[in-house]
Amino acid sequence: MPPRGSAERDPAIATNHPIADEVKFTTCYMCACRCGIKVHLKDGGIRYIEGNRNHPVNHGVLCAKGSAGIMQHTSPARLRKPLLRVGERGRGEFREIEWEEALGTAVDWLGAIRARDPKQLAFFTGRDQSQALTGWWAQQFGTLNYAAHGGFCSVNMAAAGLYTIGGSFWEFGEPDWERTKYFLLFGVAEDHDSNPIKIGLGKLKTRGAKVVSINPIRTGYSAIADEWIGIRPGTDGLLVLSLIHELLRAGKIDADFLARYTNAPWLVIDDEGAADHGLFARGSDGQPLIWDRKRHGLISASDPDALPALSEGRALPDGRRAAPAFELTARRCLDPRYAPDAVAPETGVAAATIKRLAAELAHVAFEEAIVLDQPWTDCHGRHHARMIGRPIAMHAMRGISAHSNGFHTCRALHLLQMLLGAVDTPGSFRYEPPFPRPIPPAGKPARPVQANSPLSGPPLGFPLGPEDLLVDNAGKPLRIDKAFSWEAPLAAHGLLHLVITNACRGDPYPIDTLFLYMANMSWNSAMNTAGTMAMLTERDPATGEYRIPRIIYSDAYYSEMVAYADLVLPDTTYLERYDCISLMDRPISNADSAADAIRQPVVKPDRDVRPFQDVLIDLGARLKLPGFVTRDGSPKYPGLYADYIVNHERKPGFGPLAGWRGTDGGQDGIGAVNPRQLERYIENECFWRGEIPPEGRYYKFANRAYLEWSQAMGFRDHVEPVVLQLYSELLQKFRLAAQGHGPLQPPAEHRERIARYFDPLPLWYPPFESESDGYPLHAITQRPMAMYHSWGSQNAWLRQIHGENLLHIHRERAAELGISDGDWVTVTSPHGRITVPAKLMDGVNRDTVWTWNAIGKRRGAWNLAPGAHETTRGFLLNHLISELLPAREGGYRYANADPVTGQAAWYDLRVKIEKAPASADQSEPAFAALGAPPLPARPSVLRYGAKYRPPRTGA
Ligand code: SF4
Repeated sequence: MPPRGSAERDPAIATNHPIADEVKFTTCYMCACRCGIKVHLKDGGIRYIEGNRNHPVNHGVLCAKGSAGIMQHTSPARLRKPLLRVGERGRGEFREIEWEEALGTAVDWLGAIRARDPKQLAFFTGRDQSQALTGWWAQQFGTLNYAAHGGFCSVNMAAAGLYTIGGSFWEFGEPDWERTKYFLLFGVAEDHDSNPIKIGLGKLKTRGAKVVSINPIRTGYSAIADEWIGIRPGTDGLLVLSLIHELLRAGKIDADFLARYTNAPWLVIDDEGAADHGLFARGSDGQPLIWDRKRHGLISASDPDALPALSEGRALPDGRRAAPAFELTARRCLDPRYAPDAVAPETGVAAATIKRLAAELAHVAFEEAIVLDQPWTDCHGRHHARMIGRPIAMHAMRGISAHSNGFHTCRALHLLQMLLGAVDTPGSFRYEPPFPRPIPPAGKPARPVQANSPLSGPPLGFPLGPEDLLVDNAGKPLRIDKAFSWEAPLAAHGLLHLVITNACRGDPYPIDTLFLYMANMSWNSAMNTAGTMAMLTERDPATGEYRIPRIIYSDAYYSEMVAYADLVLPDTTYLERYDCISLMDRPISNADSAADAIRQPVVKPDRDVRPFQDVLIDLGARLKLPGFVTRDGSPKYPGLYADYIVNHERKPGFGPLAGWRGTDGGQDGIGAVNPRQLERYIENECFWRGEIPPEGRYYKFANRAYLEWSQAMGFRDHVEPVVLQLYSELLQKFRLAAQGHGPLQPPAEHRERIARYFDPLPLWYPPFESESDGYPLHAITQRPMAMYHSWGSQNAWLRQIHGENLLHIHRERAAELGISDGDWVTVTSPHGRITVPAKLMDGVNRDTVWTWNAIGKRRGAWNLAPGAHETTRGFLLNHLISELLPAREGGYRYANADPVTGQAAWYDLRVKIEKAPASADQSEPAFAALGAPPLPARPSVLRYGAKYRPPRTGA
């Protein structure tokens, strides 16, 4: 046999015959990672999808989901024409209409709202990737009731990071995969960073770096970790504070890092009862004061020659006392409450393990430090000959975030990073451009103005204090989801999970139209699923009208939500349209470079569907929204989204795409509109990448080269250091208001809550649902590698990997309850009850049960065959979760959410389980089958690619 690679191969073995007659590059959308792909086309059809080896996100890696994009594109669940409801809402009875009628209807409804009261439109999107456009559209419409899905996903992680270090994980930063020696992975994280983490973990394992996974469940990345810590859900913050306790006790902290780059030395006023208690002492120039150890006096924190003290209280010029923020931090964390022996029973992690982990962190950080011979200059002009790194990196997302104590847990994690000096140093967590942002990022949530007018700014933003809340004179929320009210002051991503409940109750007011995009709110995106379906069809007895009078929905597939819409605007698949993965939105940069990308249509739709972004721009022009029309009232972007991507400018020279700007395409970041920009992207395999200069790649929060580069790219207005925040004065401002200071104070019912949870230092408190007696087990979900929420479980190939989900129970716990492998069990929470199949395992916390997320489907939806396993054995935990907490004194029910950000507390769920009656043989509850609009006939066997099979030659 000729050697491998030899030109003399047996020609009968066709190892590399052409499979396609054309290859087009674009960007995957089978999950949120946005990998580069090459789509091989034959005879105009999709033959094969391959990873793009040159792409900065995936370097050629393609996961099972990415390959299965073919079946997503050919799914029989694809909608094929606009739909208008003809039967009762929720039955799935529609008539197909033409686009002119659909758009005319939407314009009639929306135009009337805008002329009357724009906030009567609630416009919320799910996991779409065009929030820079959708948020801007809402702003031009004039409704403050806009958000995407972040409020029920991971806003705790994002907000805690942005309010603490000016960045966070995933789209904000990444581990230094090339240099990290010790990697701590917290909770469920694979759903947010799939291929990049897999590639990174491969590098760590190859180099022999230690990977520690802290997760109640040992699947996915936890399964390949060197050490798995099966922690009790909701106690990660306790563990992190205990690690900090041990590091402080041993004096193993990076004092130089803290003194130079954080607010650790800033003096905090100690004057209990005063209106400025807990705020920073400031000089006449408004700058925070520190104590200088060289000059033995108070000086400005911005003095480049400072030698700051981190401990000891000092007298201020007015005679009052003040202590450095670090001293307050140390006092908090050295409290015996956070000692390993004290936290071990609650976390389920042995005290000896906590002490060993802390010792390992200290050893790697300080005995195995990395020194790079890379000179750099900081913002103050100080020259540094080397870069010193603490090679410990961390990553976390929804697992620690989706709890009612998630914000403080995430802040505690960032505190641990800061104390170790492991923020953007060699070997540690590294920011990705455009991060770090100022703390917090610029932009406050806009207030409503008047009818027929745009908002003064984006609907979402970052409050700096009570004065930025969206509340009326009585302190009542102005937004339908109560974001930026006293109930969720730092709700940077809104509260999608509260919109339907609040609108139905008219609390704080009723709305006219709910406009949703890619948000499966009647099923796997809802807490209280049955209640949500009921609310979507509830009528006002006085008028006979639906409580939510109109629902417009856009989706590419017949998801469960479609049946609840009055008007359906069918979207294309991701392979049939332009998209923009923008630095203004959710970037795909890495730590060494900025990057953005596009999708281009690789095939034409074979149905009467339109890209949602095209439809939104068309609606904007028809409604004459400012920014969507020219002075003479004609559409500003007649070429729709592709036109907008190239020609829209958010500020002069700064638009959705950063590459090939300027009339000749010679500029990056900022530059005039380039009419050929999309062509240049397509020539470059649909992405752009701009490298950070070598001297600017670490210490980005204070690195002059990085900050100047970042300013030149249009990512920031000023070259100023970002001072990392151990102590949050901003949180203290809210607490002071709750204690009766200042002109804006919370109503009585919110005071205690604000005073407790707006602690300027990280803290831990039990998740709210742990107050439920009689429910001894935690119940959580994980997203499987091969699925992306509800999208995957209608995909013919991915269904063969996960055709059903099971409730996983620890083997010993199951034995105590008399449950065997394969039994049906009933799972009961304070809110509901489900019947599901059980599976026993060892790799799970003993007090935790779990299942894969969003596999269960409602009968009739997604054009699945009657009796499909997803409908008979698949199930959701959502049925067990309430969107509201039990009523407090006075009857008020807070959201089942974090009190700081409003993040949905999915993972707080507590349950009890028992063996189901022997007659149980299908998952419950089983809702009535949805009727279906006209959809393609579903073949009994879905086949793909047979037509491409070469004809068989003789025997
Ligand atoms: S991780 Fe997989 S599904 Fe997600 S974008 Fe990349 S290839 Fe697509």
